[in-house]
Formats: sequence, structure tokens, C-alpha cells
Amino acid sequence: MAAQILDGKTMSESLRKEITERVQALKKNRGIIPGLAVILVGNDPASEIYVRNKGNGCREVGMYSETVTLPADTVQEKLESEIDRLNADPKVHGILVQLPLPGHLDEAAALARILPEKDVDGFHLLNAGKLMTGAKGVIPCTPRGAMYMIRQTGIDLTGKHAVVIGRSNIVGKPMALLLLQENCTVTVCHSRTIGLAEFTRKADILVAAVGKAGFVTEDMVKPGAIVIDVGINRVDGKVMGDVDFERVREAASWITPVPGGVGKMTITMLLFNTLEAAERMET
Ligand code: NDP
Repeated sequence: MAAQILDGKTMSESLRKEITERVQALKKNRGIIPGLAVILVGNDPASEIYVRNKGNGCREVGMYSETVTLPADTVQEKLESEIDRLNADPKVHGILVQLPLPGHLDEAAALARILPEKDVDGFHLLNAGKLMTGAKGVIPCTPRGAMYMIRQTGIDLTGKHAVVIGRSNIVGKPMALLLLQENCTVTVCHSRTIGLAEFTRKADILVAAVGKAGFVTEDMVKPGAIVIDVGINRVDGKVMGDVDFERVREAASWITPVPGGVGKMTITMLLFNTLEAAERMET
């Protein structure tokens, strides 16, 4: 039997309804309008689309949104002075620097400049450290969205074997830590892993965050597994995931589609992180 679909669009719609209600309550009870500022350096077309979608997401749920667009030759000092300005702006509860930055800029230094409490991407070292130690902090949006989808299966995750393919700081590593928090036994695979399929075939939960279209094939998947496809790959103008969806869905019990899966949840979780940052603000 084909796998059940974990539909990011439907989940996202119901979460955005909840966010809208909480935004309205925050306005009414405390006079706070949650605000998100996005800094875009240069004019990478994909980044421009992501930034536009983030602004639209904010408006949809009644949040304040601001986009700071800087030219591609912006120097580090200027970027950091913009971050400082937004750090000090009471209308802004969340700051996001759209990555990747042009090569001459120091990404780590820029992320470190954002106040941890306004770091709604969860990339600041303090938030990364909190996730690592299990303290309450900001969780990166994509893994948070993927984890939400896994929970929607209703399956008890305790003791399940989770395999994450990918070890980036923004997806693979935080994903592995979240699964560990859920009491999964976690294996992290990467480009140097020897015998990858031997690991993936043992996975009750398989998360693919590789960046290669159709990378995960049916023979790599344990029958009945939950398969979460984080990949976003553009092939001949079409968006494709890291999983060979049509074939893998025959083996899996639950699967996320691309498009309409994890990608849909990422901006929704960004809105959630911004809302929570505003809710935490002392008045
Ligand atoms: P990175 O390129 O930073 O990381 C890719 C990871 O895949 C690396 O750890 C790499 O290993 C591993 N990898 C590459 N080739 C292989 C291989 N042959 N076998 C096993 N592992 C391999 O990408 P990101 O983590 O940033 O993103 C991953 C994917 O998720 C991309 O398609 C990206 O577009 C997508 N994405 C989607 C988002 C969403 O909203 N849905 C948000 C963010 C990303 P190594 O470390 O050894 O190089």
C-alpha cells in the first residue's frame, strides 16, 4: 500500500491560523505587533523569492514586516550596522539575514551580531548551544517544521532508529538533535559515509537533507519507514526533492512530497519563531 502523505500545505494552513489568532491576542492584550526584518544582500533571484515569500507570510498572519535590501558590494561594517539598528528597533522581534551572503562577507560574524533573542533562524551560536544541551532556545525553522510533520504521524518515536542524511548546521545537525530529544536512536550520514544504504535501510525514520534530486531510492528505504524529504532541487525548471517520491512512497508508511512538504513548513515555523520572540518580550 502506498504511503500516507504528510501534507505541508494543510499543516501550514492550520498552523498559520493559530499564529494569526495569537498575533491578534498579543495586539489586543499587550499592544505588541510581532515584527520580522529580513536583510537581503545582493540580488540572487532565489533569495529574492524567499525574501518576498517571508514578507507575504508576515502580512498573511498580521505581523509587521521589513525588508532591508543592500547592494552586493556592501561591506561587513555596513551589514553589521544594519543588524545593530534592527537589534535596537522595538518594532522588530525577529531578524533574519538571508543566506548565502556574497563571498566577501563574513557570514558567521553577521549571524553572531544578531541579538540571540531576535535570532528567529536559530543560527546564533547561543541558540545552537541551547539546542545541543536541551535548553529552551530558538529552533531552526526547517528542522522544526520537519519534526512537527514527523509528530503528526502519531507514532511513538521513543527508541525508533532515525537516520539523517546530511550534517549541515542549518538542517542535518539540528534535525539529528531534535530526533535525539524525542528519544530516537540517531545516525547521521554524510558524503564520507561508507555503505550509506546499509544505514538507511535500518531507518524507521529517514530524513534526507542532501541537495541531490532523487538521491534516495526505494531500495534504500526500510518498508514502513517515515520518509522526510528536505531537499529542494531545481531540475529543468521543476522543483524536486532528494527522494524518488513515486517509488519510495510504495515502500514507506508516511512520506513528505516536494513541493508541498517541508518547504511549506519552513516559513510557517519562521513566523512561529517570530511570534514567540514577541510573546517573550517584556513590556
Ligand atoms: P548542504 O549542502 O549544506 O549539506 C548537504 C549535506 O549532504 C552535507 O552534509 C553533505 O555531506 C551531504 N551529502 C552530499 N552528498 C552526499 C552523498 N553522496 N551521500 C551522503 N551525504 C551526502 O545543504 P543543506 O543542509 O543546506 O540543504 C540540504 C537540502 O535541503 C538542499 O536541497 C536544500 O536546498 C534543502 N533545504 C530545504 C529547506 C526547506 O525549507 N525545505 C531549507 C534549507 C535547505 P558533507 O557534509 O560530507 O559534505
